Amino acid sequence: MAEPKIGGNEWEYVKECLDTSWVSSAGSYVDRFERELAEYLGTRHAVATSSGTAALHIALLLAGVEPDDEVLVSTMTFIAPANTIRYIGAWPVFIDAEPDYWQMDPNKLAAFVETGCRWKNGNLINLATGRKIKAILPVDILGHPCEMEPILEIARKWELKVVEDATESLGAAYQSRMVGSKDTGGDLTCFSFNGNKIITAGGGGMITTGNTDWANRAKHLTTQARDDSIEYIHSEVGYNYRLTNIQAALGCAQLERIDEYVTSKRRIANIYAETLSEVPGITLMNQAPWAKSTYWLYTILVDEKKYGMDSRSLLKELEASSIQARPLWQPIHLSKAHEGAYAHHCEVAERLWRDALSIPSSVGLDPDDQRRVSNSINARFQDHQP
Ligand SMILES: *Cc1c(COP(=O)(O)O)cnc(C)c1O
Repeated sequence: MAEPKIGGNEWEYVKECLDTSWVSSAGSYVDRFERELAEYLGTRHAVATSSGTAALHIALLLAGVEPDDEVLVSTMTFIAPANTIRYIGAWPVFIDAEPDYWQMDPNKLAAFVETGCRWKNGNLINLATGRKIKAILPVDILGHPCEMEPILEIARKWELKVVEDATESLGAAYQSRMVGSKDTGGDLTCFSFNGNKIITAGGGGMITTGNTDWANRAKHLTTQARDDSIEYIHSEVGYNYRLTNIQAALGCAQLERIDEYVTSKRRIANIYAETLSEVPGITLMNQAPWAKSTYWLYTILVDEKKYGMDSRSLLKELEASSIQARPLWQPIHLSKAHEGAYAHHCEVAERLWRDALSIPSSVGLDPDDQRRVSNSINARFQDHQP
C-alpha cells in the first residue's frame, strides 16, 4: 500500500549519529530537518515533534483550545486528530466530507456555523451543546488539500483558529502554494513522518507556523516546558515530544528526495486513471482544479450495483491475488471512541466508507505490478457479469 523507500543518504546520516553518539533529542539533524522542511514549504518556522499526533496535540494547545471547548474537525479521517482534541479535554464536532475530493465540506461547515451556532459574549457557541467553539481542524486526506479559502473565511469571521492536519499531504499544493507554506493554510499546520507517509523518519512530526511566539512555545512545550537550561525549573506542565537526532537524520535524507517521491505518486495515479477509467462502477480519485495532489494513497470508489460486487468483496478477492487494499477509515462520528460527540449531517462520509478502497501506491511500486493491480480489478468486473 505505502511502503517506505530507503535508498539515498539514510545510511550515511544515521551512521554519523551513531559514530558521534548524537542519537537522542539534541543534535544537528534535528535543527537541520526543521530548517530544511521550513525552506521546502516556504514557511518561517518548523518545530519537530515525536509524531504527527504529538504535533496536533501541541498545535491545539497553541491555538488556545481548553477543556470543554469544541473543535470543528473532519469526520472522514484517520482518528488521530479527533483523539488529540480529547487529550485536552475538549470535544470534536464532526463535519462531513464533500463528494468530489472527499475533504472537509466548506458549505456544510458554513451551514453548521450559520444555523447551529450563536455569537455570545465574544464566543461562538454551539447551540446543541452550549459549548464554545475555538478552532477548526481540517484534515487534508490522501494527499489532497482541503478547500482552505472558504474555511479560513469562516475562521476569520468567527475568530476561530485553524489547525491544518496535513500529515497525509506533505508536498501537495493549494492554489499553487505548498500546503503548510506561510500563506496557504491555517495558523498552524501539522505533518507526520510515520512509516506509511510520503517521507518517513521512522516516526515523527512537524508543526509549521508563521508565528514566532507559537514556534518558541512549541519548542518549550515539547521539551518538558523547562524554564532554565541548567536548573530543573518548570512553570507549567510540558511534554516529552521532541524528535530524536536519529529520526531527524532519516528525515533529512528522505526530504532530499521528496520531489522524486511526489513525481512517482503522481505517475502511479496517472497509470491507474488510464487503466481503470473504463471499468464500469469504478470512480477514480479526483484532483480539484485549485489543487495539486500528491495522491499519497490512490483510492477508488466501488459502486456495488454497476461493478457487480462491493468494496469489501473486491478487497478480499484482491487479497487472494496477493494484492493489498484497504477501506478508508470508519467516519469518526460513528466511532465508539468518540461516542456522544456532536456531528453535523455526515452522510457523504458514510457513503465513502462503504465504497472506498485504497490500492497499492508505494513510491517504489513497479509499473508491471501496478498493471497487475488494474488488470485484477478489470478481471473481477468481467467475472461477475451475468
Ligand atoms: C498519520 C496521521 C496522523 C498521525 O501521525 P503519526 O505520526 O502517526 O502520529 C494524524 N492524522 C492523520 C490524518 C494521519 O493520517
